[in-house]
Amino acid sequence: MGEEPTTSRINYLRLSVTDRCNLRCRYCTYWRDWRKLPSGEILRYEELLRLAAVAGEIGISKVRITGGEPLVRRGLVEFLGKLHHLPGITKVCLTTNGVLLPEQAPALYDTGLRHLNISLDTLRRERYRQITGKDHLPEVLAGLEKAAALGFHPLKINCVVLKGINDDEVLDLAMLARDHPCQVRFIELMPTVSQEWWQRHFLPLTEVVRRLTLLGPLVPSTREATAGPARIFQVPGFQGELGFITPMSGHHCRTCNRLRLTADGKLRPCLLAATELDLKEPLRQGLGNDLLGYLFQEAMELKAGKVKHPLPPSRHSSRSMVSIGG
Ligand code: SAM
Repeated sequence: MGEEPTTSRINYLRLSVTDRCNLRCRYCTYWRDWRKLPSGEILRYEELLRLAAVAGEIGISKVRITGGEPLVRRGLVEFLGKLHHLPGITKVCLTTNGVLLPEQAPALYDTGLRHLNISLDTLRRERYRQITGKDHLPEVLAGLEKAAALGFHPLKINCVVLKGINDDEVLDLAMLARDHPCQVRFIELMPTVSQEWWQRHFLPLTEVVRRLTLLGPLVPSTREATAGPARIFQVPGFQGELGFITPMSGHHCRTCNRLRLTADGKLRPCLLAATELDLKEPLRQGLGNDLLGYLFQEAMELKAGKVKHPLPPSRHSSRSMVSIGG
C-alpha cells in the first residue's frame, strides 16, 4: 500500500466498557466456556475517563464505546457526557446490538453522541433468535427507527454475513439503506469460535457484492466519511450507502489505525494478536499520566512495528470478541 508504519496514524481507541452482553451470538464467543469478569476487575468509569484523557493527550482523537453490550452497563449516559468533553477527543462513537435503544436512544442523543453503529444480521425474527439466542428483533428494529428519527448520523448497521444462515438476506438488509439515510455494512466472519464453524459459514464479500449488483450500479463513495476499513458505495435511488468490511479477504495492517482497551484494562495493539499491555494495575498503583502515556505510546510503537518484538501474526483472536469488543 506504500504507507509508512508511523504511530501518528494511530488515532482511534476502542473502549470496551463491559464484558457482559444481553445476547449470545453464535459466532462471537464460546458461551459455554465463557466466565464473566469479577466486577472489581472491570475498569470503573473514572478509570476509563482517566485513560481516555491520557490517550487524548498523545494523539487519540476518536473513541468508540463497545463491549460486551455497552448499554447494559449502568451509568453509561453520564460517562458519555463526560467523555465528550475530554481535550483531544473530537469524535465519540458507540457500537450496540440495539436491544436497549428504544428506551436509551434519547438520553444517548442528549449527551451529544451522534455516531451510532447497530449490529443486525437478520430481519427475520426466528432467525434472529437462532443467531443471537434471544427473541429481541422487535426491540432492535424499534431502536433503529428511533435512532433514525432522532437524527443520529452517521447511523451504521453492521451485518456479519454467515453462509447458509443469513446470506440469502443480503438484498433485504441492503434495502435498509434505500429506506433510511444509514450505511449498511457487510462484514466477513472472523474465526472467533471454531475453525470448523468458520469454514462452514464464511462467505467472502466478493460474493455478496456480486449479489448486490442486482440493486443497480455500486458507485464508490467519495465522501470524507469513508475513512476506515470499510469500502463504501452508493446506489442510485438510495438514501444511505453500502459498506464492505473484509477482515479475512482484504485486511491491511499498515492502514489499521486502532488500539483496543478491554473491559479489564488491557491495551491491545491488534485484534488478532495476543499481545496486551496491562493498564489497570499501573493505573491502580497510582502511575501518573505521563507514564500511562508511555504505555499507550509503547502499544502504538508495537502496532507500527517500530520495536523489536513484532506482533505475532494470527488470524485467530486469543480472546473472545465479547471480551475485546470487536
Ligand atoms: N454488543 C455490541 C454489538 O453487538 O455491536 C458491541 C460488541 S460486538 C462484539 C461488536 C461487533 O463485533 C458486532 O458487530 C459483532 O457482530 C462483531 N463480531 C463479533 N464476532 C464476530 C466475528 N466472529 N466476525 C465478525 N464480526 C464479529
